[in-house]
Amino acid sequence: MTAKILDGKKLANELKQVMKEEITELKKQGIEPGLAVVLVGNNPASEIYVSMKKKACAQTGILSYEHKLDGNIEEQELMELIDKLNEDDKVHGILVQLPLPDHIDEDKVLNRIKPEKDVDGFHPVNAGRLLTGQDSFLPCTPHGVIELIKSSGIDISGKNCVVVGRSNIVGKPVAILLLKEHGTVTICHSRTKDLSEVTKKADILIAAIGRPDFITGDMIKEGAVVIDVGINRLENNKVTGDVNYEQALKKAYAITPVPGGVGPMTITVLLKNTIKATKLR
Ligand code: NDP
Repeated sequence: MTAKILDGKKLANELKQVMKEEITELKKQGIEPGLAVVLVGNNPASEIYVSMKKKACAQTGILSYEHKLDGNIEEQELMELIDKLNEDDKVHGILVQLPLPDHIDEDKVLNRIKPEKDVDGFHPVNAGRLLTGQDSFLPCTPHGVIELIKSSGIDISGKNCVVVGRSNIVGKPVAILLLKEHGTVTICHSRTKDLSEVTKKADILIAAIGRPDFITGDMIKEGAVVIDVGINRLENNKVTGDVNYEQALKKAYAITPVPGGVGPMTITVLLKNTIKATKLR
């Protein structure tokens, strides 16, 4: 048996087409969605992500405003930029590319973004709304994961869902969203005992760890749905996920490739949130 490939790139392109039409309609009413993208320093991976996000904006008709700041910038200067963007009517969404340099308090910066412009869904107000089941900006990667699963006709309800990773941007919110879809959810992390005993029981396994090939075939239940969130750049510059793809292909019912799985969906949700922020205004 070879697993079905969950093609995030294809789905993202289809969704972008729909959004393009939505944006054309908004423009007819004189409304131009705008996304401010803030990049601090010159982390090569961050630069690639920012350029991909800008490209996706251009493809769909969202105006993007890039603010590239020196890595040595004072935290206060960044806070002042956020304040300015919060008040700028052209800007409907604000994205601060993570990670920020060590001398800057990431939480402080993210908390400064107005919740109604928080298109990444990282502000505690949006995180709290998500937790309590209220309408909010959903974090991009977790929401992209759910969209990808559901669009493939896979029912989450009642399934044993195992999330490996408990970060605020992926692990925790994806677990909450799976719960919202009526999955039975287990969250694993670096202190989990007998990890493979837990992962082997997963009907839906989400890997968000940040370690290449960490999830091997023997950790996967026959017929499981495997979602690989990991993006790991190897020494030869090749990008790989957290799951051993070749081994997983032989065990899983469905699997996301890296690249071309979750990554493109993340960007699509960012665009979707920007349109939502524009409409809410
Ligand atoms: P973090 O480093 O914030 O979190 C990693 C998580 O993995 C932690 O909860 C950690 O546990 C857990 N972990 C680490 N080692 C082990 C282990 N040996 N056994 C079990 N769990 C372990 O990463 P992120 O959540 O930010 O990102 C995860 C991956 O997803 C990365 O590769 C990142 O590049 C990628 N990513 C991809 C995106 C996309 O668009 N596709 C978007 C965002 C991230 P503990 O908490 O105990 O330390």
